[in-house]
Amino acid sequence: MGQTKKVEFQAEVKQLMDIVIHSLYSQKEIFLRELISNASDALDKRRFLGITDEAVREEDLFIKLIPNEKERTLTIKDNGIGMTEEEVMDNIGTIAKSGTKAFLANMKENADKPELIGQFGVGFYSSFIVADKVSLKTKKAGTDNAILWESSGDGSYSLTDTDKEEAGTEITLHLREADGEDEHNMDDYVKEYQLRSLVKKYSDFVTYPIKMDVKEEVKSEDDKEDDKEKKDEEKAYITKEETLNSMKALWTRPKSEIKEEEYNEFYKQISHDFTDPMDTIHFSAEGTIEYQSLLYIPSKRPFDLMYRDGKRGLSLYVKQVFIMADCEKIMPEYLRFVKGLVDSADLSLNVSRELLQEDRQITVIKKRLTKKVLDTLSSLKKNDKEKYLKFWAEFGEVLKEGLAMDQANAEELKDLMFFHSSAAAELTSLEDYVTRMPEDQKEIYYITGDSVSAVENSPLLEAFKEKGYEVLYLVDNVDEFMLQGLQNYKEKNLKSVNKGDVDLKSDDEKKADEAKEKENKDKYSSMLESMQKILDEDIKEVRLSNRLKSSAVCLVSDENGMTPQMEQMFASMGQEMPKNKRILEVNPEHAVIELLGGIFSANKEDVRIKDFSTLLHNQALLAEGLPIANPVEFAQKISELMVTANK
Ligand code: ADP
Repeated sequence: MGQTKKVEFQAEVKQLMDIVIHSLYSQKEIFLRELISNASDALDKRRFLGITDEAVREEDLFIKLIPNEKERTLTIKDNGIGMTEEEVMDNIGTIAKSGTKAFLANMKENADKPELIGQFGVGFYSSFIVADKVSLKTKKAGTDNAILWESSGDGSYSLTDTDKEEAGTEITLHLREADGEDEHNMDDYVKEYQLRSLVKKYSDFVTYPIKMDVKEEVKSEDDKEDDKEKKDEEKAYITKEETLNSMKALWTRPKSEIKEEEYNEFYKQISHDFTDPMDTIHFSAEGTIEYQSLLYIPSKRPFDLMYRDGKRGLSLYVKQVFIMADCEKIMPEYLRFVKGLVDSADLSLNVSRELLQEDRQITVIKKRLTKKVLDTLSSLKKNDKEKYLKFWAEFGEVLKEGLAMDQANAEELKDLMFFHSSAAAELTSLEDYVTRMPEDQKEIYYITGDSVSAVENSPLLEAFKEKGYEVLYLVDNVDEFMLQGLQNYKEKNLKSVNKGDVDLKSDDEKKADEAKEKENKDKYSSMLESMQKILDEDIKEVRLSNRLKSSAVCLVSDENGMTPQMEQMFASMGQEMPKNKRILEVNPEHAVIELLGGIFSANKEDVRIKDFSTLLHNQALLAEGLPIANPVEFAQKISELMVTANK
């Protein structure tokens, strides 16, 4: 053995371990599934690399459980790919996933919600639920050096050079002492019957043998009668190696024979999720390309759903040989929440990530899988709306991206969308919106903003409310992006309430108002011009409004201009945008505007014109929940006005 060095865990690892131990204590047996799943992944990698690299090739791949009752240890051994020292440090001592900090902070606030940890995937760290010390000995296939990693889960770990004959990884758990009166199952994890049943329950379909040495009593013929009187130590045993799992790839079995629990356990094994999936899609495709696919829609969104480097994609198998994990090319980005696998006999075993990019067969499979998932969601929406809305709450935001990215399925996607709106307390579909439209309403209206509470009282809605026209509230970050693919629904155009001019008046109303409008224009045009000059830095035009009823002012964007939400979206993607000036609309019927008009016609140079213009602009910003440039000055001006009002 070589020198030992001590290394501190990354702070997040320590935090995560504490949370895992705390929140999963009542489900501690899942540690075995997690470790077996890691071992199985390592075997997959070795088998795949072995196809082309003789140095790592190994025909007899296996996992072995070695319980030791006396020492209270359980060893999980595999002859998979193994790890170098560097890989051990990267994989076991650090968490590279972005968003970890935010996730952990959220975990702490919701400490009583163990299912949250499932969104993270605990993997190796689950060993510390049952063990107070863990030793991991590993040797990377094709190399000569082995390393021993040890930790008591207390903030640091040690690394020691060591010897190990075979490549692969061996993890030894030193099981915790029982706490309190009962054992809390701890002693079970060294018992044959318990390990056998846990493997059956959680890992039966692992495609490598999970072996264990079992003791079997040897009985001679004349022993039979007085068998029962024999004491344990008098019995004769032989040790036999037994394979605990059936190894049958779940997806190759006929659907009718697979129980829901089996589907669910398989999901948990591949996803490291602790919650049952919301839906399972299992099918085989025949025809030009034959393949089987087993897909899952999770019940909960994973914590990294919105992060660029989050895990996505399906596992790819060729004739039950694992080829790659996280294959992104077989699922569109906007369905990245779907987990599962595809197994095809028609792909080449040598297929690489690069080749996949251009593979026509992969494109065909992707198209079919996309359709399958969307059809599943459509029928869920139709048959169990409540359940669909639960799905929507978790993944709707991602599905919306699909509208901008997948034209081929646009119509089906539109029907899967749900929005808040001015007419319904609950979320509404476009279909329901259209059914509620009054006869004279020609377009589907929407308003964009930061939140429902920020838009529901917007002055922009006044005229629509009066008309009885419903307005959809598009308040998700992704909505502006989604709109690129949502210009119409059932031949009705979508029209922004925040953009361009609105024209809600019927021809008769227009005629009736014509004279009044002309009068207002003549009365206010030079005042509007001078207001524009005062606000020139932020405002490109000040004009009379058709949409205001009780408010004095509002801000709108140009028909082709950007809304503040779009600006934010570009800014969050790191794109610098030139300053986007908006339009200030004023309500000619409002007392404040009439007052200002009076001041203006008396004296164009009156200082109050500048103050009032700025105040009105600030008001319009505040009504949208946007920050104003100079809040202190704003407050002072208001106070001054209050005082003068009383003089
Ligand atoms: P995850 O499996 O979700 O990536 P884990 O914490 O369980 O997270 O494991 C971290 C990494 O450590 C794995 O991705 C893998 O690279 C490595 N690892 C874990 N167990 C083994 C093993 N038995 N053999 C080889 N590598 C392993």
